Amino acid sequence: MRELAEEIIQGRRLQRGEDLSFFVTADLKELCEGADLIRRELCGNRADLCSIINGRGGRCSENCKFCAQSAHNHTNCEVYDFLSAETFVEDCRKIRAKGVDRYSIVTAGKTLVGKDLEIAVESYRAMHEACPDMILCASHGLMEEADLKRLADVGVTMYHANIETSERFFPEICTTHTFEDKIEEVRRARAAGMTICCGGILGMGETWEDRISMALTLAELAVESIPLNFLIPVKGTPLGNREKLAPEEITRIVAMFRYINPTADIRIAAGRSYFEDGGEVLFTSGANATLTGDMLTTVGNNTAQDREMLTRLGYEIKPVP
Ligand code: SF4
Repeated sequence: MRELAEEIIQGRRLQRGEDLSFFVTADLKELCEGADLIRRELCGNRADLCSIINGRGGRCSENCKFCAQSAHNHTNCEVYDFLSAETFVEDCRKIRAKGVDRYSIVTAGKTLVGKDLEIAVESYRAMHEACPDMILCASHGLMEEADLKRLADVGVTMYHANIETSERFFPEICTTHTFEDKIEEVRRARAAGMTICCGGILGMGETWEDRISMALTLAELAVESIPLNFLIPVKGTPLGNREKLAPEEITRIVAMFRYINPTADIRIAAGRSYFEDGGEVLFTSGANATLTGDMLTTVGNNTAQDREMLTRLGYEIKPVP
């Protein structure tokens, strides 16, 4: 694997159509060492930390099978209207004080329009003013380009829209919108002047071919950040009884994403709790970014612990102000 890693460092890019089945069988230790080498050479030692706040909870019209917030699923998720600009600014200040690089409002729902869009624009404007050194990201579903431009104009620099899985497997996970809708959203956000955070969820019943295909799609879209979630089955969703992925399989998936997307931030989101130590091995197997603090509807890792772990592994992180 070292040879392949060195070729990638020299500029080779793995393509659709190549036989990439070796990702499933390669020695895990060698695979991870190669991924770590690619990360060190092409991304350096800077780790990127981000935190999110769920800005509007529940009642979503879409039927994503993994999601606690879908009205099609029967979960105990909290239902609430769009929070206020003051709430976001206060939370953003708190997160900034912990030395986090990025902050994003995430909303349940197919899109963001009307009164809620106005609150969002005002909130991002206020956060940008209050915490100018906080990088602002946004995640509001399938938005129109003109509305995305409004977010960009008030300081949002990155838009988050997951493709969730491979094109082949997507219809088995959601039927109220399509894989192509997601790709189009990525294109619109790019056209609106934002960089792209786009990944998905692993462990929903997809095959290894699906995983590799998903990684290739993200490489083809040249996304800057790839959030990887490892399904935490939520009771009351159609995936509530799915078996959890084993830590070794999660590690192999992370390494594979690094080989196929050598310069992107590979960002670990939900699922670090599957590792007793918060998934330290992932950050020497290709990952160089993580969500920190409380996740959307499942509990995440504590920021102070993450900072200590990343520093110990040799990463540079944003200083606490
Ligand atoms: S669109 Fe988003 S909030 Fe709605 S069900 Fe799908 S993942 Fe959940």
